[in-house]
Amino acid sequence: MKFVSYWHDTAPVFSGGAQGPLEGHYDAAVIGGGFTGLAAARQLAKAGAKVAVLEAERVGWGASGRNGGHLNNGLAHGYLSAKTELGKERAIALYRALDDSVDTIEALVAEEGIDCNFRRAGKLKLASKPQHFEAIARNFEALHAEVDRDTALLSAADLKSEIGSPFHGAMLSKKSAMMHMGRYVAGLATSAARHGAVIHENAAVTDRKQPGKRHELTTSRGQISADNVLVATGAYTTPNFGYFRRRIISVGSFIIATRPLSDAEIAATMPGNRTCVTSMNIGNYFRLSPDRRLIFGGRARFAATSDQRSDARSGQILRASLAAIFPQLANVEIDYCWGGLVDMTKDRFPRAGYHDGVWYAMGYSGHGAQLSTHLGMILADAMLGREDRNPMKGLEWPSIPGYSGKPWFLPMVGLYYKALDRVR
Ligand SMILES: Cc1cc2nc3c(=O)[nH]c(=O)nc-3n(C[C@H](O)[C@H](O)[C@H](O)COP(=O)(O)OP(=O)(O)OC[C@H]3O[C@@H](n4cnc5c(N)ncnc54)[C@H](O)[C@@H]3O)c2cc1C
Repeated sequence: MKFVSYWHDTAPVFSGGAQGPLEGHYDAAVIGGGFTGLAAARQLAKAGAKVAVLEAERVGWGASGRNGGHLNNGLAHGYLSAKTELGKERAIALYRALDDSVDTIEALVAEEGIDCNFRRAGKLKLASKPQHFEAIARNFEALHAEVDRDTALLSAADLKSEIGSPFHGAMLSKKSAMMHMGRYVAGLATSAARHGAVIHENAAVTDRKQPGKRHELTTSRGQISADNVLVATGAYTTPNFGYFRRRIISVGSFIIATRPLSDAEIAATMPGNRTCVTSMNIGNYFRLSPDRRLIFGGRARFAATSDQRSDARSGQILRASLAAIFPQLANVEIDYCWGGLVDMTKDRFPRAGYHDGVWYAMGYSGHGAQLSTHLGMILADAMLGREDRNPMKGLEWPSIPGYSGKPWFLPMVGLYYKALDRVR
């Protein structure tokens, strides 16, 4: 078994990074080379701006190269809960932004000719218990009437042709998609560089000062100045960006990938070939890869770290969950096991905007694979003085009391959700 992301292992390595020391002045500096940062850099460079991407590791090293590969057009919240917390108007705007995000990626992939297996597969939100189906049905009724006609409610009987596991029904979101995340992030970086963005890998930003109008950014490879800065560091935000560290809770999420499955195994497990998410609080997400592996993820444990030891422990839990959902695959070989950090906010709504001289977009709370590209481009447009289309504009973002970036409370949150899953 390999302890690396399947997406990293099966994608071309981005080779268009700038070499040599960092110096000079830029119109914009983008900190973080994931989807958010790269999409913003591409948009800025396309408009003729001089832009530098500063990435501490390699492009796509963070969540963008480690995720489940689902491009779902929904939030961490169900629509009804988003409506209760944000009001109808903003909840609709946010759901529409998720729809637009998938369209944005489809258009970008076509425009840049990125070979990343983008496919409108549709997503199933699967009811793990009968009472979960009732909640899914209530949510579906409101969503279908007020936001998304491309949804359908499937009964347990309807699911027989979709999935080889006895779920109690599901909501189908037809517009949701999937793609190969490694190929996409490498293609996005290549296209940003082709439009003129200067991409510096192994360039961790260790300090930012703004003595006058310009920002001065110190990195491990030199110093640059810039008129605008976008912080696109997500769950991997370093302590020197304290404002964001006090608001982002980095939580581990973990994934295993099986060996390629045979036709018979796919017919017995995932004949519908869609993205799937279960309804438990500590639930699972899964899909097939382009080479027919089952990519099966979940929070597994409420861990604040993802390294080989932590990933391996979570991998064992995931293996048991996989066997519980698909007993027919209980003994299948697992070829990959990896993990990454998810950038949660306290209320699980993303945030994007401008604070204390810098632009930012983060806090996608496990639903950022599509929104990150879209918000990166929207913030780039705002920097360029174009129309402000930010769906998160004006949403307050208070810091979390007693929290300075180390999520000491995660084990307790984990126990709480475990108990909830037992009774509800
Ligand atoms: C295991 C897992 C499964 C997931 N599954 C899904 C899914 O199926 N669907 C979905 O929609 N979302 C999913 N997500 C979430 C999604 O992947 C993220 O929301 C998205 O990739 C965020 O992109 P980003 O560019 O904002 O951040 P990232 O991709 O995390 O990029 C941030 C980058 O900033 C860099 N950085 C940090 N600090 C500094 C610094 N000081 N200087 C320079 N660089 C710095 C990091 O090295 C990192 O590369 C998942 C996440 C994980 C971890």
